[in-house]
This record gives sequence, C-alpha cells and structure tokens, in this order.
Amino acid sequence: MAAANAVYYASHDPFADFTTAPEITQAFGEVLGAWLAVMWQDMGRPDPVLLAEAGPGRGTLMADARRAIGQVAPDLRRALRLHLIETSRRLRAAQAKRLADAAWHNSLADLPDGPLLLLANEFLDALPIRQFVRRGAGWTERHVRDGRLVELPAAGPPPSDPRRDACESAVVEICPPAVELAQALGARLAGQGGAALFLDYGPERSAPGESLQALRGGRPADPLAAPGEADLTAHVDFQTFAAAARAGGAAVHGPLPQGVFLTRLGLLQRTDRLARTQPPRRALALIEAARRLVEPDRMGRLFKAVAVCHPRLGPPPGFAE
Ligand code: SAH
Repeated sequence: MAAANAVYYASHDPFADFTTAPEITQAFGEVLGAWLAVMWQDMGRPDPVLLAEAGPGRGTLMADARRAIGQVAPDLRRALRLHLIETSRRLRAAQAKRLADAAWHNSLADLPDGPLLLLANEFLDALPIRQFVRRGAGWTERHVRDGRLVELPAAGPPPSDPRRDACESAVVEICPPAVELAQALGARLAGQGGAALFLDYGPERSAPGESLQALRGGRPADPLAAPGEADLTAHVDFQTFAAAARAGGAAVHGPLPQGVFLTRLGLLQRTDRLARTQPPRRALALIEAARRLVEPDRMGRLFKAVAVCHPRLGPPPGFAE
C-alpha cells in the first residue's frame, strides 16, 4: 500500500479520482482558519509559531485557512511560519503555486522545534495498513505475492489492539505509521506546545472489518489490479489513534462527526455570508457544497474531527458544547 500510493501520488493528479472537503467549498478552510486563530490565542499567542499541514494536496485548505486568519487574527498571520509535510514532488509543485513561502518536509519528525499548529484533512486514510485475519486460536497476516493476497501465519496478534478478541475469519486492520505519528505528535505537543486537528473518515470506535478501498477514475476499483494507478485508502481507527496520542502525553478531543463539528464552527453562517454576494446559481452551489460536508448521510457522519492538544489548553472550539 505504501509503495503503490507513493507511485500514485508522484505520478497522478489525485483530484481526478476523488474530491475532498477543501475542494468542495472555501468555507471549509475558512472556518478551520478561525479554529486555528482561537487555539493560538489559548496558547498565549506565541510568535513565531509553526503552522503546518500534513498531506496538503493542492494547497487549497491552507490557502483558505490563511486568508481567513489574515482577516480574523492579523497578528497570527504575521507570526506564522508555514511548513508543509508532503512526499509527492508533483503535489509540492502544485502547493508552491499557492503557498510560495512554505518550507517542505517529508515527515512530522523533520519539522523544526517550537509551538505548533497542525492541520490534516484526509491524510491518515492514505497511510499504509496491515490486515490480520483470525484463524482458529491464532492469526494470519495478508501479504501481496505476485499481485495476489496470500495469508501467512502472523508472529502474534495485531499489537495492543482492542479488537484482538475478534471472531473466526474476522479481519483486523492496523496502521502502524498513524500510531507512530500520534504518539510522536502527542509527545511533541505536550513538550513544546500547540494543537493539531485531523479530519478523516472512519468509525468512532475500533471494530473488526475490512475497509481498504481503491478509487480509479473516480470509481471503485480492485486495490490489487493496477498498483500505482488507483488511490488507496482505509478507514482511520480513531480510538487507537487517540490512545497513542494520549500515551505521548497530549490531550485528545473527539472524535466527533464532521457535520456536528463544522456546524458548531459556523460553516453554514459563513456559507450564507458568501452566498449573499453571489449570483443565484453560485449561491445555490455554495449552499449545496456546505450541505454535502455536514449532512449525516453524506460526509457529515462517516467523517470525523479529532484534536490533539497540549494538556493545559481548554477544549477546542467545536468540541465543547
Ligand atoms: N489534504 C488534501 C489532500 C488529501 S490526499 C485535501 O484535503 O484535499 C492525501 C495527501 O497526502 C496528498 O497530498 C499526498 O501526496 C499526501 N501523502 C500521502 N501519503 C503521504 C506520506 N506518507 N507522507 C506525506 N504525505 C503523504
């Protein structure tokens, strides 16, 4: 999965295959920009402060967030130093067109020290998973051999996982890079200050089940059919992610359904404001886009928001009633 996605992101325009919240409406990035401004106030207005994004795609989310920050918190706009975590050279070039002053890095570990504000939308779902299968008293792990999945005996159960009691033939997915990231980020935020916000899709609580999916040309595809030609993602296991961030020393808020979170942040009010100055067709498109992000049977429930924060910060906007 790691190798296939590295080739895919290096050689394709992923937005030909799927669309994401920041590409659906500018209001998404704008309300997240306001969220960052509140967190920065709560952090004691550190200057300078790192503003980072993991997997920024086209740079749309950060461009929208930063523009909103310029309006609601000009002091933060001046204090922030932009850092983007992106492995694809092709996407780095796309991001540079909108965010020319950023510094680019391959991983969280490469960021310079200091208080940090971090955003990540649909980043964790692209990280490689491993699949374990319950067989009798033991476990097998799925491997790819000659383009097909084979089950080989696993050395042990999926590590420290609440789903290890799964019943016969159940598939349990783990995502080691997400767990490592959560733990390292938790330790960093606890030690150096800051807050991070992740939006991604997956269930609230860990559960057995297969979620690996491929999208090619905008349509579901066989994940093994053409490695590097399709976008591979899997559900994020928020419960395990949160536990790892707490183990690192941070406070975790959520996961909360994206629809609830964005509504509390004022996505619909912001959309109304934008729509008022637009011709009717464009106004309707803005309202329809906001609905797509918040309605439960669309992206509002399956997508979740989770915040990882320095333990002395108050509950972030959107997470406290
Ligand atoms: N956040 C964007 C794009 C999501 S697509 C949006 O919402 O539109 C996933 C992004 O993560 C892409 O930019 C991809 O190149 C990047 N990415 C995937 N795996 C990565 C990894 N292991 N390290 C850094 N970036 C990665």
